Amino acid sequence: MKITDVRAAQPEATSAPRDWRGSLGQLSVAVEAGGMVGYGMGAGGAAGTHVIHEELRSLLLGADASDVEGLWQTMYRSTLAYGRKGLALMAISGVDLALWDLRGKAAGKPVAALLAEDPPAEVPAYSTTGLDGADGFEGIAEALRAGFAAVKLGGIAGSGAPDEGTADLLRRARERAGGGVQLMADAGMGWSDPARVLALCEEVADLGLVWLEEPLPSDDLDGYAWLTQRSPVPIAGGEHEFTARAFAELMDRGCHRIYQPDVCWCGGLTQLVEIYRLARDHGVRVCPHRGSEVWGLHAVAALDPEPLAESGRPWMEWVGGRELRGGRARWTGGPGFGVELPV
Ligand SMILES: [Mg+2]
Repeated sequence: MKITDVRAAQPEATSAPRDWRGSLGQLSVAVEAGGMVGYGMGAGGAAGTHVIHEELRSLLLGADASDVEGLWQTMYRSTLAYGRKGLALMAISGVDLALWDLRGKAAGKPVAALLAEDPPAEVPAYSTTGLDGADGFEGIAEALRAGFAAVKLGGIAGSGAPDEGTADLLRRARERAGGGVQLMADAGMGWSDPARVLALCEEVADLGLVWLEEPLPSDDLDGYAWLTQRSPVPIAGGEHEFTARAFAELMDRGCHRIYQPDVCWCGGLTQLVEIYRLARDHGVRVCPHRGSEVWGLHAVAALDPEPLAESGRPWMEWVGGRELRGGRARWTGGPGFGVELPV
């Protein structure tokens, strides 16, 4: 199954936030082989498109599309000088997902069925919301009305260092969500002092948060290892980490209790499969970033012993391939990922 074409393009996403997620945050990829087209989604915008067209395409043309893991190594090694993490890996992610889509199409199976014998079509999901509405919790109320039993409140680091105000915010969020709802909080790498984060975690230990996400910059491995060892609230992170090799280091050092790779960024499904394997060996949980978008959902359904798929980006709804309803995410298509992208 020789690869005959590789294309990439940044899709229109007019409702994307006016930050890097709009300018660089998505990249559609098509790989043609055996008369079929595989589609994947990476990231990197025009820069990622350049990496694929100018660097990866020539490596891939004429190669056997079914050797997905071998091609991942070829792409990774050929981009070492400027890659390893960041935009180059985001571009590789899109190609890798397109190759997995082709693998599914060639087998006549959904990707989930390539990863497990009899994968469930549907898994529990959680809704990620920001501080919305007059009291900041309208997003939580909306998620509960939509049937979610698990909600994550983002933007909690907006006021600066973690303090009494943050503890009070989380306390009011718990009251608003109610006791039976799984509640998480995301600081988006907004703080920098592990000791102050630990003080916050001790202060809110009674709230039963399922996790506190990214309280520190993702490169502060010492800080994360120190915090995770001491915090009564499980510490989550990893959405801004790349490759299974790097996740192995995070796990070896005990940086998080919950690991959140993003399959469109971390190196694609080839890496996510390996990260799930590493997590099993280390006895830690994987809960992929944007896990209900079609690219991660097949792996969550097939490989996750404790599935909880994140709601994903509203401005990417056009991709399709899944339904998010009544607090559950369901992959709807196949073979492959069962979607078609304009690229
Ligand atoms: Mg996050």
